[in-house]
Amino acid sequence: MEADAQKFTITIQGLAVLSAIPLVGFALWSDYYGRRLEKLKTEKEGFDKELESARIRLASVSVIIFQLILLFGSVELRRSHALAVNGILVSAVLIQGWMQALAERKLGLPQANLKEQFKRNLLGLLWISTSVLGYITVVLACTALFGWFGQVLGVSKAAGFIFTSVGAISGLIGGMALNFALAPIHLRKLIPSTPLEAEYPILAEHCRQAFRSCGLATPALLLMAATNSRGTTAFISGFRWGRGPFRPALFISRELIEKLTPAEVQAVIFHEMAHVLLNHMAKRFLFSSSLVAGLTIAGVALTLLANRIFPADATTQQLTSILALISFFGAFRWIGHQSQKQEVEADYFAVTRLTVDLKVFAATLRKLDNLNGVNPDHSGRMHPSTELRIAVLEHVLGSPKLNKIKSDQDSDQRAA
Ligand SMILES: [Zn+2]
Repeated sequence: MEADAQKFTITIQGLAVLSAIPLVGFALWSDYYGRRLEKLKTEKEGFDKELESARIRLASVSVIIFQLILLFGSVELRRSHALAVNGILVSAVLIQGWMQALAERKLGLPQANLKEQFKRNLLGLLWISTSVLGYITVVLACTALFGWFGQVLGVSKAAGFIFTSVGAISGLIGGMALNFALAPIHLRKLIPSTPLEAEYPILAEHCRQAFRSCGLATPALLLMAATNSRGTTAFISGFRWGRGPFRPALFISRELIEKLTPAEVQAVIFHEMAHVLLNHMAKRFLFSSSLVAGLTIAGVALTLLANRIFPADATTQQLTSILALISFFGAFRWIGHQSQKQEVEADYFAVTRLTVDLKVFAATLRKLDNLNGVNPDHSGRMHPSTELRIAVLEHVLGSPKLNKIKSDQDSDQRAA
């Protein structure tokens, strides 16, 4: 009995230490990050608040995913000592929510008080965790189902492996489809917002008319709360054919409406509408799915090969995990490239088909960068730089303003 109790204490302590490692890591990173932000603030160019905020969230989500892995990995311990294990992990999530709130404060964005922000972060983290769990469940369920099917058919070991792999791919794509379809709801949970109609009924009516005139269903029109960390912006989420709870959602920040002229606001909304008309979300889903399926098949092929070369199970398992990780992050990179291309496509469509004036559009993009403290020559992971977007439009449309941009680029090159 005593030995058992001692073993339990050691295991729980081990779990607590494991759970604390990413928290300490985040705290150290956050401290370093705060100092880096202070330095950036003093520099002329400023920094992209949206990008920095996304970085903090990504770091925070990584910590939560680590905690979820611990939760999954401690099934037996959880069964015997549910209170202690769940207590450790819930505390870790709470501490993470608090640290994220502190880290986001360093960005110096207009914010609600710490308590409200902590509450929002926590709800956001819980929602993300639920989505991740949902995704993992779909993947595991599909893999198990296909594996079981193979067993029922009494196939060979090699064929069984292929069955399981097909199940895993279906699960990955199914989980992705679910996440894509749920994206509008997902964002509504994460970004505090109110119906646009309540405060800007005329703008809401203009939006409805614009979407109707293009044969699109009106998306949910949402005004982001002033405390959002995304700055002066607008974006749309959801499939073109999404209806009911899955219908697209158009988010607009208050600053965008207040600081831009009506023509500039319209230019932004038409750009977002172009994304829907060009089926960008569906294309992103298809591309991501093909990428995941392709990478998984390549991974399976390599694993089979490795199995021949290293018959020991452990090596193959490690290789599979590494390949899965590479596929995951590789897919993110490629999706970023696609997103950049889609931005340019949406710009072109808005100007040529939705009659947005090029001059107004260029002025809007530059104004947004200025308001958000973004360097117009800086390309993000998902967006090409403003000057590049304008230069592409001017080049394709043969605009006479090409010379001006060229000289701007020259001076930038000199500066660089
Ligand atoms: Zn866009």
